[in-house]
Formats: sequence, structure tokens, C-alpha cells
Amino acid sequence: MSDGSLPPEDLHPETLAVTAGRPDRAPGAPLNAPIVPASTYHHGGDTIYGRDGNPGWEAFEAALGDLEHGTCVTFASGLAAATAILDELPVHAKVIAQRAPYHGVADMLRERAARGQIELQTYAALTADSLAGSLTGVALVWIESPTNPMLDVVDLPAVIAVAKAAGAMVVVDNTFASPFGQTPLTLGADLVMHSGTKLIGGHSDLLLGAVVATDPAVAQRLRERRSKTGATPGVLETHLALRGLRTLPVRYDRAQATARDLAARLAAHPHVGRVRYPGSGTMISFETTGTGEDAEAVCEATRLIVHATSLGGTETSMERRARYASERVAGTPETLIRLSVGLEHVDDLWRDLDRALAAASG
Ligand SMILES: *Cc1c(COP(=O)(O)O)cnc(C)c1O
Repeated sequence: MSDGSLPPEDLHPETLAVTAGRPDRAPGAPLNAPIVPASTYHHGGDTIYGRDGNPGWEAFEAALGDLEHGTCVTFASGLAAATAILDELPVHAKVIAQRAPYHGVADMLRERAARGQIELQTYAALTADSLAGSLTGVALVWIESPTNPMLDVVDLPAVIAVAKAAGAMVVVDNTFASPFGQTPLTLGADLVMHSGTKLIGGHSDLLLGAVVATDPAVAQRLRERRSKTGATPGVLETHLALRGLRTLPVRYDRAQATARDLAARLAAHPHVGRVRYPGSGTMISFETTGTGEDAEAVCEATRLIVHATSLGGTETSMERRARYASERVAGTPETLIRLSVGLEHVDDLWRDLDRALAAASG
């Protein structure tokens, strides 16, 4: 999509976020890819029907593909992207995953295993040691790092290396780190999956998903899968997600700096127990002292921080994850609060948190 512009491999990711996926630089051409509201196309071209492609999807895919170093296919949501990957597996395929990845992915894996569609083996922690010896015949290793909501971090280079050596396909759910935290394809993974709903969209105003593949042939199969299943994104969604992607490096840096600060302040707070912050990224999970109800009360006592699910928006939000049955089943602590750090001033956020923690703990 670039003509006289610099080749992507010469550019830093921050620059790519701004430049990738733009129309060619021709006199009079628009700077941004147009929003094309079309369910059908005139016969004779490559695109026939709205399920097969859209110029707006392709602009978003070009940008995220450049940032993740592969070929991107966008989907209606993160879970639609995950479904496409799992639908590509042959029947009885062996799949290895963490015991508690994102609950929607965990549910899909368990349901498929219960129906006999896949053979699922899960690990509390995915390490090269724990996997050694159990990788024979494994088709897919599903990795989430850091995990939602426990923020467990996987040693990606080590785990990817043993999985690849055994011939398994490796997918990394990169939703929490974003391409500005890590680029798993450069560490040897085959696929990266994103919930674009979160940091990439970045404004809590859309649902979107994506898969980025090292192998263009795999990307093509996923594209065909998208057409077959109709897991197609909206044209407004890909436009907004690309607009979100343009500012992601700046948002990520700022939110990460604030998260580091808040994590340290939380760790020293008398009403806070264990703080999980992996040292990078925009997410913090912390346990409050007291009961689950006390933690729920903290979430309800904030005035600035939004009490809502989801993450990665400009606004800081939090919720007690064990409010969901599926999270309780996965072993999420009753008092664990997942905090998604946004772009407000750190001191305003701290004042709100500190006051809510004090109010709710009496
Ligand atoms: C939200 C999320 C998903 C699912 O994405 P949707 O866009 O909500 O379908 C998958 N993985 C992780 C880590 C998530 O946070």
C-alpha cells in the first residue's frame, strides 16, 4: 500500500503505526482509507461479496500485519478470531493450553474437548520444562501472556522453541501486551491473536478481532474461514480500530507509566494484599484485604474509575473478576480486582483508588 514511501522494515513501530495501511501517495488521493459500505461489488474484480473483503478491513490488516510482522486477517471479535483458529484444527487434534486463559477461550476449548472434537491438555503454568515430553503429536499450543486476569507471564522464547521443535503450531493471544509490548511472531510463534476490542481500538467503542500469521497460506485459509463462517468485521469498526492503532504507542507508553506507579502505590497500601503487575503493560490485578463483598464495594466506591468489564480504553476501569461464575471455576481469587489503566492523571487515579479502598474497608 505504499509507493514512494519508505519500506516498512526500515521504520520503527511508532512510525509504522502512523504510516501503515494508508492509500498510495497520489495527488488528490485521501490520506485515510475510505469507509466503503458495500455488501456487494461489480462482477469482474477480485471481491465479489461483502463477506470476502472490504478496502477498510485491508487497510487495518496492512497496519496490524506490519506491526506484528505477518499477514493479518481481521474478524468480528477476538472470540471470532479464536474460533477461526480452532476451526482449522482436524478432529481429535491435540491442543495444549493454560488452565486459565481468557474465560471465553477456556470455555471454547473445554466445550470442544467435551464434544470429542479436540484432545485438550492444560497446565497451570506453561513452561518449557512442563511441556518437555508431552508434546508428541500436539497440533496446537495456545499461549496467553500475560494472562487475563491473573497476569501470569509465559517465557515465550523458551516455550515457543520447545513447541516448534516438536512440530506444534503456536498461537499467542497478544491482547494484553499489544505489539508495543511484544511481537510473538519474531520469537517464532506461528500466529498472534488479538481482541482489537481492547488496546488496539482503545476507546471502548467497538468489538473487533484479528489473527496475524507468519505463513501467508495460513492467513489465506483463515480468510476463507472468515467468509465461510461470516465472522466478518464491520466497516466502521475497522476504520475506528485503525484510527486507534495510530495512537496506540503513545497511549500504551502513558498507561504503562501510570500502571507502574499505581502498582507500586497499591503494593504499599494497608487494604491491599497481593498485587500482580508483570512489570510492563497497562493492566494490574490486585487482591484487597477482606472478603469478596468488600472488594466489590471498592469497585462501587470509585467516582473516577469506571466500574465496568473490558479493558484497554482511554478511561481507567476495574471490576472484581470473581463476580463471574466462569472465573470462580478457573480459580480467580474472590477479592481479585482487575484494573485497566487509562490516560487520566496518575494522582487523580490514586486519590480515587485510595479513597475507595478506605471507604469500602471501613
Ligand atoms: C477480550 C479478550 C478476548 C476476547 O475478545 P472479544 O473481542 O471480546 O471477543 C480474548 N482474549 C483476551 C486476552 C481478551 O482480553
